[in-house]
Amino acid sequence: MTTITLNNGVEMPAVGLGVFQTPPEATTDAVSEALRVGYHLVDTAASYGNEREVGEGIRRSGVSRDDVFIESKVWISDYGYDSTLHAFDKSATKLGVEQIDLVLLHQPLGTRFELTLDAYRALEQLLADGKVRAVGVSNFQPDHLERLLAVASTVPAVNQIEVHPYFQERELQRLHQERGITTQAWSPIGGITSYRGDASRSTFNDPTLQGIADAHAKSPAQVMLRWHLQEGRGAVPKSTKPARIAENFDVFDFELTADEVAAIDALDTGVRGGPEPDSVDLEHFGMPIPEP
Ligand code: NDP
Repeated sequence: MTTITLNNGVEMPAVGLGVFQTPPEATTDAVSEALRVGYHLVDTAASYGNEREVGEGIRRSGVSRDDVFIESKVWISDYGYDSTLHAFDKSATKLGVEQIDLVLLHQPLGTRFELTLDAYRALEQLLADGKVRAVGVSNFQPDHLERLLAVASTVPAVNQIEVHPYFQERELQRLHQERGITTQAWSPIGGITSYRGDASRSTFNDPTLQGIADAHAKSPAQVMLRWHLQEGRGAVPKSTKPARIAENFDVFDFELTADEVAAIDALDTGVRGGPEPDSVDLEHFGMPIPEP
């Protein structure tokens, strides 16, 4: 298993299964299938509505809890010190575990940053109490990180952000490197360029990626995942299909050349697929996270 050592020494598997938009009824099978073919990390979130099924998939796989790295995220509606502590309890109960390996703040709340800071203080408390092994953030931009780092006593272990060949966030990644924060890529194979954009112009149909894939007898998805690994990022590709779940983990037996990596780096368009992080506010994106 290829792992990334986080800034507090915890080992995080470099590739994991994402379950955003995986319906609850498909989640148990997807998770247990992933663990069967060798994955050791599952990335879920309170807002995905499938934490219970993630827990069920882990138990059904027969893989020991200790061999699975579980990652979840607190939704913005649960930000605030006490609410975030309670959000952990909701997630842990649904997952059926005592400890969650990595908990992230799902989004910065730019308009209510004091609530974001209170939520992060709660994560620090959970870390001190041993309820989580590492804490981090997601979708934080450089200014959010600077504001957080100015007051936090724990540097986030991870910032999970949109990174795929068409959107690479180089300035943010440089800041991560300076501060010892691991970049974990969401939409790592550019799924968002397909399900939110024009599928015929998605990363899956990119001629450069296809050419590199052909040279290695691999698929464009495998080339993109290899690119993340060689640049030191974690990645959490999502699929509900057993063949693709296996394909997305079959990325440890080939190496991209420096020229191939440079050719993929050159595909950056600077166009984000997901929402502008500062557009996410309670008014438009708030939703209650149910009790277990
Ligand atoms: P991905 O880049 O993982 O792409 C997933 C899409 O590509 C799905 O439509 C999937 O369809 C398809 N797909 C999967 N494997 C292949 C393959 N080998 N060849 C061709 N198509 C394939 O994008 P996501 O946006 O789903 O992101 C992955 C994960 O990142 C999420 O599940 C979640 O865990 C995390 N995430 C986090 C966000 C955040 O705000 N922190 C935001 C968005 C995602 P199918 O299932 O039919 O195979």
